Amino acid sequence: MSIAERLAEVREEIRAAAVKAGRDPDGVRLVAVSKTRPTEEVRQCFQAGQLVFGENYVQELQAKAAGLSEPVEWHFIGHLQSNKVKYIAGIVGMIHSVDRLSLAQEISRQWGRLGKSCDLLVQVNVSGEATKSGATAEEARRLVQEIALLPNLRVRGLMTMPPFFDDPTAARPYFAELRRLSERIAAAGIPGVEMRELSMGMSGDFEAAIQEGATLVRIGTAIFGTRDRGPGAG
Ligand SMILES: *Cc1c(COP(=O)(O)O)cnc(C)c1O
Repeated sequence: MSIAERLAEVREEIRAAAVKAGRDPDGVRLVAVSKTRPTEEVRQCFQAGQLVFGENYVQELQAKAAGLSEPVEWHFIGHLQSNKVKYIAGIVGMIHSVDRLSLAQEISRQWGRLGKSCDLLVQVNVSGEATKSGATAEEARRLVQEIALLPNLRVRGLMTMPPFFDDPTAARPYFAELRRLSERIAAAGIPGVEMRELSMGMSGDFEAAIQEGATLVRIGTAIFGTRDRGPGAG
């Protein structure tokens, strides 16, 4: 199957999952995760109608952004070191993986130099697995409050990566937990904070994530095929 065919299939599955959950399919946006895939495949996917692409690695993102004239919207979804923020400033439309104040401060500084604002999500480690990055629920709440005071940033919601299960429905309680946390933070009414995005669900479990309210699903393998490097790499 071509990338265009797999993309169409994934889009249909997302739509069906939204309808099944009683949600408006337009409320779920697809982030095509193109990490490790060549620029040419991003182009093919864009030509098939996909606008938003997710990348995990700063250098790879830089190279692809430089190699494409197409107006794709880049989202950064991987672990981000503060000293690399300057390389993606102004290039990415959203950062999904903010898990500490020092990182948010650097994003604020770099976007400020460009006179722009960055949309970001706070990454939460809902499962508490030691190998996963992300703030605890309690830290996330505090982090949102602290980020709200920084210029050039807009908190738009939360992101999580649940543990891997063979049974995709097993991840559902973690998605539900992220949604409840988001609702609690929204209820605090922090000025400037809009908890409108829930970035959750990957190739293996996006249906369960959509049932629990995902607004951004990050899907790589189901569109581009299997990678050499694993999904957690980087
Ligand atoms: C790789 C990756 C994905 C996509 O995973 P697939 O299983 O290939 O769909 C989603 N989110 C993050 C943070 C990733 O690193």
